[in-house]
Amino acid sequence: MAPNETPIRRIAIVGGGTMGSGIALAALYAGLDVSLQDISGEILKQADAYLRKYLERKGMAGAYDRLQLVTEISDLGDAEFWIEAVPEDLELKRSVFRAVEATAAADAVLATNTSTLSVTAIASAVAHPERVVGMHFFNPAAVLPLVEVVKGQFTSTRTVERAVNMVEKMGKTPVIAQDSPGFIVNRVARPFYGEALRLLGEGAADVSTIDAIVESAGFPMGPFRLMDLIGIDVNLAATRSVWEQTYGEPRYQPHPLQARMVRAGTLGRKTGVGFYGYQENGEDPAPEMAELDPGSAAGTIHLLPGAMGPSIGEMIAAAPVTRVESAAAAELAMVVGDPGDDLAAQIRPIDRELPPNAPLLVQAASASLSRLSSSVVHPERLIGFDSLFMAGVDQITLAASDQLPAEVRAVSEATLAQLGLRSVWISETPAMVLPRVVCMLINEAVFAVGEGVADEGTIDQAMKLGVNYPHGPLEWGRALGWPVVLAVLEHLHDEYQEPRYRAAPKLRQWSRRPGANLADSADR
Ligand code: NAD
Repeated sequence: MAPNETPIRRIAIVGGGTMGSGIALAALYAGLDVSLQDISGEILKQADAYLRKYLERKGMAGAYDRLQLVTEISDLGDAEFWIEAVPEDLELKRSVFRAVEATAAADAVLATNTSTLSVTAIASAVAHPERVVGMHFFNPAAVLPLVEVVKGQFTSTRTVERAVNMVEKMGKTPVIAQDSPGFIVNRVARPFYGEALRLLGEGAADVSTIDAIVESAGFPMGPFRLMDLIGIDVNLAATRSVWEQTYGEPRYQPHPLQARMVRAGTLGRKTGVGFYGYQENGEDPAPEMAELDPGSAAGTIHLLPGAMGPSIGEMIAAAPVTRVESAAAAELAMVVGDPGDDLAAQIRPIDRELPPNAPLLVQAASASLSRLSSSVVHPERLIGFDSLFMAGVDQITLAASDQLPAEVRAVSEATLAQLGLRSVWISETPAMVLPRVVCMLINEAVFAVGEGVADEGTIDQAMKLGVNYPHGPLEWGRALGWPVVLAVLEHLHDEYQEPRYRAAPKLRQWSRRPGANLADSADR
């Protein structure tokens, strides 16, 4: 706070729905006086009941005396700090800001809780746009710790500071973002939903299998479960908004499957049916996963190690199997390699030496199984595996052709069980599930850094606090190694031939730096 700044005692909140009432609760918890306004008396009644209930539950019933509920903006008086939370409609927000400016103290901060609209576009409706700032709370606002403080084109440094102080006063964590479509969280998270929808649309796997694979990497909820929770309509609206504001950037293109569900009124939990809940007996299909049965496991493994699967050597060393130098002496082979390797050239001699009925597992994060098939003598025993996310998980994603012999499949599953991994089979699809979803999230974060939306640490913090990601996308990219991430992106781009999968220019730059491939290198 500036030295001669008087602390703010009262805030005015315009719009008393889901977010307005949640922000009011956070402000009451923080000891502030709160004036909450809504045009609907019915909504105010609901907000009143909600606030009473949660204040009592927290043993803060007395804080209710600091709350004032009104229906007119002019009744909000000259509060020094305002937060607008009316529906996501630019013209409505602009008219509300004009009404607020007519009432607010001359020096008041005017914040908007918009999730997708341009703060600058809202601010330009008023005479003093330098005091307009974005304060993007997450739902439920009284619980979730993150608030994106969004600096519009006209927002003054002092206004940003005052917004940051207010967020901290509410016991939350502010992150500062530039005014660009989706800010940080709603933008960087888009591939989480978009790639899952594409995988589903391409028949790679069903919703519960995709969710289970994604959750195995530490995400608290898979993309379909999360879309059902958020509301499929709300999620589509966010995607559409970012896509439209970027004039049709292909990375954000909405998926027809989602639009069809919105037209059908199957919006997720709030309507009882979404991606889940269509079974008549009320049970959703479980993901298909092999049992951990080491019965027919291979005793000897030949491994071609590399950065495309950093933990495999250690897993084999810790398992009751013997690693052998010669493929001819192996009962199963695993080929990983480094980014940029010619995998076809590497598997050819291994395929020739390995006994014909032994499984040949090839990393399929940056390589196409069907392409590799054409370079070997025994394509039927080729199995693609998700090599990047094996450490610390108990499952592995696999894909093979229809020609895969049952005994090859059985030996493969049993051997992986020896490594502690349950096999999850999907149809062949570029970069499988986790490499595709995670590397697209990382790429999106790198694009955001390159465009100056926020710095690396801020983006990581926002994603961990805002959507509970297990790692910040940039720290994840550094841990995997930028050339590894780039290899996955280039593979996707190569297979789809779509600009959606182009690598961020900064990802290429970082990949070229000396030492970039060392997972633990601080040097990008
Ligand atoms: P909501 O529909 O629950 O609440 C909006 C409220 O505004 C309603 O109660 C409505 O009666 C009131 N209202 C409408 N016109 C008004 C006016 N002229 N003056 C005063 N009140 C008026 O919506 P919400 O989910 O609380 O969303 C509000 C804002 O918060 C939107 O900009 C939304 O994008 C953003 N947001 C929502 C979420 C979320 O998950 N719901 C998360 C972050 C941000």
